[in-house]
Amino acid sequence: MHNIKAIAFDLFNTLITVEPHGLGEALTRLVSSLKKNGLDLEYEPFKQAHREAAIRFLEETRKDGTETHNRFWISDALKSLGYDVPPDDPRIATAVDSYFSAFLDLCHLIPGTGEMLQALKDRYRLGLLSNFTHAPAAKNIIEHVGLNHSFQVVLISGDLGFRKPHPSVFRQLIDRLGVEKTQILYVGDDPETDITGAGQAGIQPVWTTYVRDNDIPAAPGIRIGSDETPDIEVPRISTWEDLFSLLDSE
Ligand SMILES: [Mg+2]
Repeated sequence: MHNIKAIAFDLFNTLITVEPHGLGEALTRLVSSLKKNGLDLEYEPFKQAHREAAIRFLEETRKDGTETHNRFWISDALKSLGYDVPPDDPRIATAVDSYFSAFLDLCHLIPGTGEMLQALKDRYRLGLLSNFTHAPAAKNIIEHVGLNHSFQVVLISGDLGFRKPHPSVFRQLIDRLGVEKTQILYVGDDPETDITGAGQAGIQPVWTTYVRDNDIPAAPGIRIGSDETPDIEVPRISTWEDLFSLLDSE
């Protein structure tokens, strides 16, 4: 692959994993925050209402590709429990921050990732493109795992208004990397958002199966995607050594 000038990566289950109890811990913090701010909530009914709202909003995003945000899910869940709290209420903003604070210590770099990026840095432009509703939290996680200086381009769907696989996010990736789309590799774990998305945008996708090959449990709710295999012919890697071999291949 001698014409490649830039490599971009997905974040979750591509570069980092999240401990599976992350979502429960995050919800506990979310509910405590709302209670601290005067809302009389019980955990289980709120959890159920929040889950239903999240599914509804995420299904909506699958139809048109636009990104959603947790503040809408929370407002919606509260509404179904009889509380009229608009999405832009500061109590919701505080609760969103509490929710995502749970993930900081539960996110881990896949072994060898820092070294891999360091090794590629001098030869390629490096990018990150992640589906994440609340961009500040994604940036905190990136910094917390030590990747804040690893990329020339960091794009988070929450900032872009659209989610992968929507073509507009890949178009922005191409623009920001500043090379031809055919000179970019996009490495991701999700057959639909990453592989189909990049492929449709004219970028060469690379499917990484480290997480599934090592049976690492994924945090429920983080990964909204399919468990299928890609529907296009695509190089598959399971280790960063595989990526280096791929880059050195003809
Ligand atoms: Mg992923």
